[in-house]
Amino acid sequence: MANRMMISQESQPIPCEDCGQPTLHVARLVAGDGQLLGQTMVCTECHRRRNENGSGVTT
Ligand SMILES: [Zn+2]
Repeated sequence: MANRMMISQESQPIPCEDCGQPTLHVARLVAGDGQLLGQTMVCTECHRRRNENGSGVTT
C-alpha cells in the first residue's frame, strides 16, 4: 500500500490557518494501483517545516 498525494496544479492555493501562508493546496489521494481514494488539503509550507524539524517521520 503506497498511497501518494498529488497536488492539483489547477487549484488555486488558499491561506493556511496554521502557518498563515497562501500555500494550502487541494491534493488527490491516489493508491499504488492508481485508484483515486479521495481528496485532502495539503499545506506545502507546513509540510516543509515538518521535514525541517526532522523528528524521524517517514512518508
Ligand atoms: Zn501551513
